[in-house]
Amino acid sequence: MLVAVISSLRSKDPSSQVGAAIVSPKRHILGTGYNGFVGGVDEKSFPWAHEGDWLSTKYPYVVHAEENAILNSTAYDLEGCSLYTTLFPCNECAKSIAQKRIAEVVYLSDASRLREPREAARIIFTAARIACRRIELSSTDEILGRLRLVLDRHRGQNA
Ligand SMILES: [Zn+2]
Repeated sequence: MLVAVISSLRSKDPSSQVGAAIVSPKRHILGTGYNGFVGGVDEKSFPWAHEGDWLSTKYPYVVHAEENAILNSTAYDLEGCSLYTTLFPCNECAKSIAQKRIAEVVYLSDASRLREPREAARIIFTAARIACRRIELSSTDEILGRLRLVLDRHRGQNA
């Protein structure tokens, strides 16, 4: 989950940074992703707005973190994998997750403002027997302390 959180830091969405990571049954990380505009475009020419005329919002153009993690995956076969995501998936991502036979979705929060896509995702996950569970990042202070130690060590090596 920490890898998903760190992936979310790369998102340029000013209102919602989401990260995802796919882990194999043997616990190898196969793919990561964050929400961002489709590749190969001038990102500055696309809107981040989440209200107003649909074509003037981000929704038609943004690829979600979960979808990007699947697309960026180093493996074609994701059957039985776990997908870690900082935000409970929408129905569009749920379809891809089910199509790839991912076995489990682990999420940090389900606080998305889009209620119906989330409900549809739950229906898809139930029908496809995909397990869902919410976890909390325990001992955040310990994680940050260890990160700081590693970063300080590298900074010291460069000094
Ligand atoms: Zn989605």
